[in-house]
Amino acid sequence: MGKPRRLGLLGGTFDPVHVGHLVAAVNARHELSLDRVLLIVANEPWQKVGMRPVSPARDRLALVEAAVEGVEGLEASGIEIERGGLSYTADTVAELEARWPGTELHLIVGADAAAGLKGWERLEEVRSRVVLVVVNRPGTTIDASAPDSPLKGWDLRMVEVPALEISSTELRDRVASGRPLDFLVPMPAIRQIREHGLYGVTR
Ligand code: ATP
Ligand code: MG
Repeated sequence: MGKPRRLGLLGGTFDPVHVGHLVAAVNARHELSLDRVLLIVANEPWQKVGMRPVSPARDRLALVEAAVEGVEGLEASGIEIERGGLSYTADTVAELEARWPGTELHLIVGADAAAGLKGWERLEEVRSRVVLVVVNRPGTTIDASAPDSPLKGWDLRMVEVPALEISSTELRDRVASGRPLDFLVPMPAIRQIREHGLYGVTR
């Protein structure tokens, strides 16, 4: 793949990937004319380790690869898995900047993730290097104009996407209790979940 001019980054645990992630990625790409959007699979998500068991990174990457297969402009990225250890956006952004100097990096986050930005590692470094793209997500309202808003000081774009009340957490519960994932997760990714026996799937 050649050097992109405008690149989107959607980082996540993707345990599993679902249509909420994909709809956010394709709509951010469209609204902001991004050449492509990388779905960056966290190796060890620092916010989640020790909180709950996380599926093996390679399995989560395989799900994202299956989900974006044939989807124009979306790409699965194993950059954080290749780096190993805890996954910090600051390291990923620095690595991509070194790989593609001059590429405009657009960091896409859902409203819930945006609300937690102040706790991120080396936040100032990230802030100086990216355009922040916030997409709406049911359950969190975020007001960029509030005096204490975590979005203050960022080069900011708000992108409105169809509200999809869906989370990986709820999907893991669905699988464990035998309820269907159909249409919430792309079919090729569902097949991977079955083949790898993820989330306590029984068939
Ligand atoms: P979990 O329940 O395990 O936290 P999740 O569904 O929140 O999973 P993540 O991998 O944590 O998925 O999310 C990665 C990124 O995608 C975050 O920026 C998050 O805000 C965003 N995102 C996830 N689901 C949605 C959704 N339904 N609508 C908009 N953005 C979403
Ligand atoms: Mg989450």
